[in-house]
Amino acid sequence: MIKPDYPSVLLIYTGGTIGMIENPETGALEAFNFDQLQENVPELKRFNYRISSYQFNPPIDSSDMEPALWAQLVKIINHNYDKFDGFVILHGTDTMAYTASALSFMLEDLSKPVILTGSQLPIGVLRTDGKENLIGAIEIAAARNENGSPVVPEVCIFFENHLLRGNRTTKINAENFNAFRSYNYPALATAGIHIKYEYDKIRKVDPSRPLHPHFDYDTNVIILTLFPGIQENVIRTVLNTPGLKAVVLKTYGSGNAPQKKWFIQLLSDATKRGIVIVNISQCQTGMVEMGRYETGLHLLDAGVISGYDATVESVLTKLMFLLGHGLTPDEVRKEMERPLAGEFSEPIR
Ligand code: ASP
Repeated sequence: MIKPDYPSVLLIYTGGTIGMIENPETGALEAFNFDQLQENVPELKRFNYRISSYQFNPPIDSSDMEPALWAQLVKIINHNYDKFDGFVILHGTDTMAYTASALSFMLEDLSKPVILTGSQLPIGVLRTDGKENLIGAIEIAAARNENGSPVVPEVCIFFENHLLRGNRTTKINAENFNAFRSYNYPALATAGIHIKYEYDKIRKVDPSRPLHPHFDYDTNVIILTLFPGIQENVIRTVLNTPGLKAVVLKTYGSGNAPQKKWFIQLLSDATKRGIVIVNISQCQTGMVEMGRYETGLHLLDAGVISGYDATVESVLTKLMFLLGHGLTPDEVRKEMERPLAGEFSEPIR
């Protein structure tokens, strides 16, 4: 019997491998409904929690994830915010890091856990990683401190025993169960015999502030990866794309790029036209430091701003979020320089 003060979790099923069940007759993978999930994960009944569910109809492969669906997730969470202690989003792994990053900005002043998880093998398969991921995610979404406040009041990804800050996370493996990494920020918890929380790494929030949901975004952005031999006409075409408002520029090492005159000129012209260009390194670990080498200094002169040690997913979704709120290019640049949801480490200035 579930007592009224027992934790409550809303399980939002968007799709992805975790929600697939092998049809024993045809062998094909089919999307489940919540009842089938409960049949495959009988452990759910052993939680003394109130678990309710919401399903995307139809469930989607996360390669089909769209910002409009991020807004739908925000809407669902906002609508149910007071009714549940925490939220678990079942999501395909391919774009989970984008969704987690976007939600971390769109759910401003979040003070409850929103835990994304999924799996590499469908939940109906014997060796599935989905059960552990799901059970762990629910436990974390429901975890409370002694004073009753949620332990992890932020958007996270829980996968293969690691709880990671969502906007610091990247998918790095299409084969292993250990599919996600947060290169530049430590895990918020590790699940072994106990779930060991790193309390000092978890965001401190002000629970008296009400959730401020955001639904707007602007997708006039692009990721441009540099490589030796990249052509002037390609960069010119990209930067002159009609409507383009922001570029995530993936540079080398600590934020370095070619010193060619045409290249710097094209970036400088784009900045002057109001395009926001953010420098992110192709290296996963470490921080962009444009003042370190001459090759980086040219970028600073061209008006390029630093993405510090943020992930591409978080920079891209933050740009969409800020541009969606009608900020001017200067305002966007200013907001990119301060972490909104712990998405980058403050550089030592
Ligand atoms: N293609 C699947 C998806 O992202 C992969 C997965 O769920 O792991 O929806």
